[in-house]
Order: sequence, then C-alpha cells, then structure tokens
Amino acid sequence: MNPVKNLVITTIKRNKVQIHCCASPDDGERVNAQIIETANKLVIIDAMLMRPYASELREYAKSLGKPIDRVFVTHSHPDHWFGIEYFQDVDVYAFPETIEEIKMFAQIAMDFHRNNHGDLVTDTLFLPNKAITESEVTIDGVLFRLFKIVAAEDVFMLALDLPEEKTFIAQDLLYNKVHLFVGQRSMDGTLCFDGWIAALKQYESGEYEVVLPGHGFPGEISIIKENIANLKKVKSILSSSTGENFVQNVVAAFPDYGLRSMLEMSAYFLFQMK
Ligand SMILES: [Zn+2]
Repeated sequence: MNPVKNLVITTIKRNKVQIHCCASPDDGERVNAQIIETANKLVIIDAMLMRPYASELREYAKSLGKPIDRVFVTHSHPDHWFGIEYFQDVDVYAFPETIEEIKMFAQIAMDFHRNNHGDLVTDTLFLPNKAITESEVTIDGVLFRLFKIVAAEDVFMLALDLPEEKTFIAQDLLYNKVHLFVGQRSMDGTLCFDGWIAALKQYESGEYEVVLPGHGFPGEISIIKENIANLKKVKSILSSSTGENFVQNVVAAFPDYGLRSMLEMSAYFLFQMK
C-alpha cells in the first residue's frame, strides 16, 4: 500500500544516491525531511513537526526497503526535531550545541505548538542520542561533509553536502518561495539577518546542481542569491515596521511567497517575545 497521503515527495536521481525530498503540508510549515538513499541504506535529515507527517515519513522510509543508518537533526527548531519521536530505534545525530538548545527551549516549543495543534504534535522531549563530532563521514560509500553554521536562521545549525553528488543539503539555511522565519535572536539578542547573510555567502559559489532547502521545493544554486536579497529587504522592512504592519509589509514585498504563518510566527518572536 502506498504510505504517502499528505507528504509531497520529490525524487531526484543522482550518481550514487537517490534523494527523496519529503515536504509536509502548510499546517506542518512546509518543512522538508530529506531521505538520502544509498545503495544499501537510508540517511534521513530532519524529522518533521507534526505527528501525522513524521509517522508518514517513517512509513515512506520503510517502503524503500533499506535500513535507516541514522537521522541528522540540523537545528533546534521544533519543525526539525519533534518528529524524532518516530525514530527512537535508530541513532539520531545533532551538534552538542543543538542538543543543549533543544533541552533549553523544548518546553516553550511544545507549549507554543500544542496551543495551535493539540495532540497532533509531541508533548515529550526526545533528544538526539549522538553528538556530531566529526566534519565528514562516509556512509555506504557516500561522503557527507558536515558544516557548523553559527548565528543564522538558528543559533547553531548543521548544513551538509555530498560533494561527489554536487548536492547541498542546506535545510533552514535556505527557503524556496516560502516566507523565511526571521524571529531567531542570538544569545546576546542580535537579530538573525547579518549572520544569516554572511553564512549564505560562503556557499554562493559552490558547485552544486541540487540544493535542498528546509522549506519549499528543491531548487538550484540561484536560490542562495534570492534568499540573500530577501533577508536584506525584510531587514529593512522590519526597521520601518511595527508589530501591526510587519507581516503585511513583507507579504506586499514578496507576493509570490507562500506560508504567511511563517511571518506571523516571526512577528511573534520579534515583537512580543523580545
Ligand atoms: Zn524549519
């Protein structure tokens, strides 16, 4: 039986891997989990926000008929780790800083999302059980390079690439035609914009043919430039907006972007939680 009911799955065939980009619907924030299928194994990157989509991700992985080698959680935001509830029997890797951040903010995240979604999201803290300590790892003959990014969309983030596959697994370092979440502040209160733009510039000239964002469909390297332009514009809109008109001002500037709720969540953290 086809396990896919809600997720939109884009399959991309590369050299030694097949990529399955699994996108959740709008109420799951259009977050992507990526399944990298090697000859004999699966590597999963991020695990969804909502229970129905996380369990469907697990079912879809099962339908591919290969063991899950590991799950990577790229950062501490709940749309990337809540779903590890469904992957408790496999190793889940994250940076030590990310594990600490998840611990610190889990209750706030669960309260916030259970307020919106009730029992459709987890009420239990599940932590990655393995800390990432290396900067590259070869899994089933495929080289994964692991990059630690500081002070971008989240305070600590993992991005990966598969250099032999010319594939950049950016997750939330990049969004594709979806409003960016810009509500994260550094520990010292600094807004995300400048650090995020600086991080993106490091990858702008990478030789990537496939770019996998954390929200929105897979794209090409050009979405890096588009994200940089978006962040510059939204930063300037924020400086001249109030809590009342920030969302509508950004929507007016980017009318072809989806998921207004991402901006509403940004506004909540920018104006009410500061
Ligand atoms: Zn996200």
